[in-house]
Amino acid sequence: MLLYHGVGERAGADDPFRLFVPPSRLRRQLSMLLAHGWTPLRLDQYLRGDTPPRSVLVTFDDGYRGMFREGLPVLRELGVPATVFLLPGLLGATSRWMKEMSGEPLVDEEEVQDMARAGLDLGCHGWDHTCLAGADADTLARNTTRAARALADITGRRPRAFAYPWGAHDARARRAVAEAGFDVAFSTHGAAGRYAIPRVDINALDTVVSFRLKCLPGFPVMRRVSGRVPGLRPALNRLTGRVARG
Ligand SMILES: [Zn+2]
Repeated sequence: MLLYHGVGERAGADDPFRLFVPPSRLRRQLSMLLAHGWTPLRLDQYLRGDTPPRSVLVTFDDGYRGMFREGLPVLRELGVPATVFLLPGLLGATSRWMKEMSGEPLVDEEEVQDMARAGLDLGCHGWDHTCLAGADADTLARNTTRAARALADITGRRPRAFAYPWGAHDARARRAVAEAGFDVAFSTHGAAGRYAIPRVDINALDTVVSFRLKCLPGFPVMRRVSGRVPGLRPALNRLTGRVARG
């Protein structure tokens, strides 16, 4: 399970969390997976459990216009399916949940329809990127049930997958996502069954070496274990270009 955010060339000052991967790099990374015999999955295939040993779900969070304009052509060129997690409360707006990079444009309704027509699988990333861990009932309802309905109104299809904003979740958030009718939900680190499946995040600092390391089946375990060994987590983070997000 790979987690990308934006696609495009961004200077470090404009993208302090290094969320944007240049299209040439995305092409190289996905080509490498294909060359090593990985099968990228459609979301439906993943949900059916039709997952061969070397299979991967490629996901993109937030719904950046850069992903649509510069990432989609790469995916189509390589024939790689992907799932994009959208924020129906911020369509046509910008990434204002991050004060350090609040002006990054997000896709609008028309572009969401184009994404669906282009064959991207569309999931829900909440309503407006509000953190759902510790959220009250109204906030949970807006970010799950209402967000799902808004996406269904645009695409004609109920989204089946959810990705937690900031990767953050707790038992109430997971229950709200399940009760809203989603089949599955993705986090970044914390694993908790079908409604919190971790993903490995890829960012602009990843090198060929760190990307290959992150694609090893043992990487999530390595990352978990490294948290308990002094000095290992920072070393692993240095190696894999992980950037702390505010
Ligand atoms: Zn996000």
